[in-house]
Amino acid sequence: MIEIENLRKEYRQRDRTVVALDGVSLTVRPGEIFGVVGQSGAGKSTLIRCVNLLERPTSGVVRVNGQDMTRLRGAELRRARQRIGMIFQHFNLLSSRTVAENVALPLEVMGYPRRERQRRVAELLALVGLEDRADAYPAQLSGGQKQRVGIARALAAEPAVLLSDEATSALDPETTQSILALLRDLNQRLGLTILLITHEMGVVKEICHRVAVLEAGRIVESGTVAELASRPGSHLATTLFPRPALNGNRPDGLLATLMFVGAAADAPVMTTLVRQFSVDVNVLSGSIELVQGERIGQLQVALSGDRIDEALEWLRGQGLGVEVH
Ligand code: ADP
Repeated sequence: MIEIENLRKEYRQRDRTVVALDGVSLTVRPGEIFGVVGQSGAGKSTLIRCVNLLERPTSGVVRVNGQDMTRLRGAELRRARQRIGMIFQHFNLLSSRTVAENVALPLEVMGYPRRERQRRVAELLALVGLEDRADAYPAQLSGGQKQRVGIARALAAEPAVLLSDEATSALDPETTQSILALLRDLNQRLGLTILLITHEMGVVKEICHRVAVLEAGRIVESGTVAELASRPGSHLATTLFPRPALNGNRPDGLLATLMFVGAAADAPVMTTLVRQFSVDVNVLSGSIELVQGERIGQLQVALSGDRIDEALEWLRGQGLGVEVH
């Protein structure tokens, strides 16, 4: 649905060139919610703006529904863009227009007849739960309601793809949850494909099927949240489960973090370590989180005994991620 191949974006300034994207490739499958996370300056906005060509890539290919966006210009590009919805951190609503008029805007641009527009706007407002605010102005709405208007407007032209540019970053945690629930619902009900960028790991954890971590214009890891959370050394794992500080008193034995997902979380691995490998396990800390219905956890342990290497190998064979510190 969205295919990005070897994307490069340079911003040329008078005295220097900033490489914002340095060979990014990724595929967002139909019906998928794909998240790109990264710190400020990593290139996330540039990446998402290259998808609908608000930024023109320096080189590389961006295909949306099989159409190479980089080859399009003028009216053709405008038409292709109509099939790509976008929502923004600061909503970008027109303050002089009512909720209904904001949502109707893309339909006006596309030349929908008035009657048709009214019908479609009513449908969209019902979809985002704002039927009763059609005549309100943006200034009279809460942040969450404004983003609902943004979503309704983005979906007006029935796009196959929705781009979300930090859509919940300006919202409080509770409102964030309700907007994420709405996006998940639209994804499931309409089969909407969503590419979102965020610096918030919580957003990724909540709704993304797959995720890529962007660092200085490059993708450094990608996979499902569960895969990355149990991958030793993964940036996502250490952000979701910050490694606890030992406050200077390093315990005896080999220090390791064990990362487990799903069924591996339920297996009595510690008992096996003790019984089968005669390894002593000193549990230092641990936590388990429910991520999209799956248990993901990490346990920091100090191990001692003669057969630790064998035991670690066995753990890896059981599907646990093992980081030795
Ligand atoms: P993010 O969204 O992850 O914060 P951006 O895509 O905004 O990252 O920025 C990536 C890099 O490109 C940064 O170094 C930023 O300063 C630079 N950059 C972004 N937009 C421009 C621009 N219009 N002109 C010059 N440099 C830019």
